[in-house]
Amino acid sequence: MNTRANHQVETNGQHAVVLGGSLTGLLAARVLADHFDRVTLIERDAYPENTEARRGIPQANHVHGLLVRGRQILEEFFPGLQDEMIAAGAPVVDMANEIAWFTPAGWGVRFPSDLKVLAFTRPMLDLYVRRHLARNPKVEIVDNTDVLRLLPASSGNQLAGVLICPRSSAADRRIAKELRADLVVDATGRASRAPRWLRDLSYSAPEETVINAHIGYASRLYQIPDNFERDWKCVFVQGAPPERKRGAILFQVEGNRWLVTLIGGGRDYPPSDELGFLDFARSLPVSTIFDAISAAQPLTPIKTHRATENRLRQYERAKELPDNFLVLGDAACAFNPVYGQGMTNAALGALALQKTIGEQRRRFPDGSLTGLSRCFQKRLAKVNETPWMLTTAQDYRYRECTGGVPGRMTRFMHRYMDRVIELATRKVAVRRVLLRVFNMLTAPSTLFEPRILFRVLVKILKPARPRREFRPRTQVIERTAS
Ligand SMILES: Cc1cc2nc3c(=O)[nH]c(=O)nc-3n(C[C@H](O)[C@H](O)[C@H](O)COP(=O)(O)OP(=O)(O)OC[C@H]3O[C@@H](n4cnc5c(N)ncnc54)[C@H](O)[C@@H]3O)c2cc1C
Repeated sequence: MNTRANHQVETNGQHAVVLGGSLTGLLAARVLADHFDRVTLIERDAYPENTEARRGIPQANHVHGLLVRGRQILEEFFPGLQDEMIAAGAPVVDMANEIAWFTPAGWGVRFPSDLKVLAFTRPMLDLYVRRHLARNPKVEIVDNTDVLRLLPASSGNQLAGVLICPRSSAADRRIAKELRADLVVDATGRASRAPRWLRDLSYSAPEETVINAHIGYASRLYQIPDNFERDWKCVFVQGAPPERKRGAILFQVEGNRWLVTLIGGGRDYPPSDELGFLDFARSLPVSTIFDAISAAQPLTPIKTHRATENRLRQYERAKELPDNFLVLGDAACAFNPVYGQGMTNAALGALALQKTIGEQRRRFPDGSLTGLSRCFQKRLAKVNETPWMLTTAQDYRYRECTGGVPGRMTRFMHRYMDRVIELATRKVAVRRVLLRVFNMLTAPSTLFEPRILFRVLVKILKPARPRREFRPRTQVIERTAS
C-alpha cells in the first residue's frame, strides 16, 4: 500500500518521520499529524490488503488481547474504529462474564460488567487502524521500505533524517535514499537497531535490561463447529509458576473462528507438531480448551514464537540524545506478552507523545525541538514503570527466569497476589477491582485498599493449608455474589 494520492503537503512545513508501521508506529503517526505539516511512516514489510500476518510482526499469529484502556485510547485517536471492527465480525466480549478464566485457585466467578473488549486477530486490528490513518491527508504511508540508519545534521544536537531503501525490486534494493526530517521517531519494535544507529553517530547506547522467563507460544486458528455448546466466548487457563508452567488462551475471533494459543513458561515450550500441540492442550489442568479444539477443524498450521523476554532500554538515562529523536513502543520497553499489556502500553505511549509535543509547541512557538527527546523519554519511562514492575515481578516466579532475582519485597508481593487471586476467584467485588487493575483502568495500589488488604492479611496470617491439586474434567461456573 502506498497512499500518496490526495495529500495536501506543505513542503515548507515541518516533517516528521516514523520508523516502523506496526501499532506503535501507526499511533505515533496519528499523534504527529496534529503537530507537523507532514508525517511519513516507513514500514519494511509490504502491507497486505487483508488480514494476513506479515513477516515483521510474527507475534500477530498469536492471541492479542487489547485491554479496556487500550481500546478506549484507540477509539479516541480513531473514532469509529470499534464499530467498523464489530461490523466486520469482531466479537464484543464482557471480560467478567464471557471469559471462562481458570485461575490458580479454580474457575473465576463470572458476572455481567461494563468491562467490554473486542476479540480479533492482530492483523485485523492493524488493517483497520491503518485504513483510518491512511485517510489523514497529512500522513504518507510508505511500505516495503527498509530504514538503514540515522543521518546526523551538520550542526547541533540533531538528526537530519534517515537513510531508507525501497525493497520492491532487486534494483531498488541497491539504492539507498536520504529522507530529510525535522523529527525522527523509532517504533521498530523489540529488535530496534536504534542503539547501534546511535553508537554509529558517537552517542552512547541506552542501558538495556532483559528479564526472561523463557515463555513460548504456539497458536492455531480453528473453525468453530456448529452447535458446539458453551457458555463462554473466550477461555483463559492461567499458569501458576513455578509448579504449573503451562497455560492457554482460546479467543473467539472474526470469521467465526477460534484462535488458540498454548503457552509454556520456564522453557516448557509448546510444540509445533500436531500431536504435541494436542498433548500439550490435554495436559492443562482443565479440559475446556482440549475439548473445544478436538471438536474443531484446524484452518492453519501451528505457529510458534519465543521472543517474549521483557526488554527495557532506558533512553531517559542516556547522557545525550539527538533532540529530535524519540523511541517508543516495544523499541523502548517490551514485555512478556502473557499479561497482554504491549498494545495498551503503546497507546499510553502515544498519549505521552501527544502531551509532550503539545507542551513543546507551546514552549517554543518557533517550532524548535530543543530538549524534546529528554522530556519525552522521561515521560515515557513513567508510563513503562508500573507495567514493567508488575510483569517482571510475575516472571520471577519461574525458577528458570534469567536477568535478575526477586528481592524480599517481590517475594512478599507474590504471597499477597496469590491471596488476592484466591479471593478474586470467588468474590465479585475483589474480581471487579482486579479486572480494572489488569485492564489498566486503575492503579495497582487499589489492590491495597483497606477492604482488600484486610481480607488478604487475614489469609496470609492464617497457617497455610496444603495446596489441593485441581483437575476437574468439566468446568463449574460459580455465580456467587460477594
Ligand atoms: C507472542 C506475543 C504475543 C503478544 N500478545 C499481546 C497481547 O495479547 N496484547 C498486547 O497488548 N500485546 C501483545 N503483544 C505485544 C504487541 O505485539 C506489541 O506490544 C505491539 O505490536 C506494539 O509493538 P510495536 O509496534 O512497538 O513493535 P512491533 O509490533 O514489533 O512492530 C515493529 C514494526 O517495525 C517494522 N520494522 C522493523 N525494523 C524496521 C526497519 N529497519 N525499517 C522499517 N520498518 C521496520 C516491522 O516490520 C514492524 O512492522 C504480544 C507480543 C508477542 C511477542
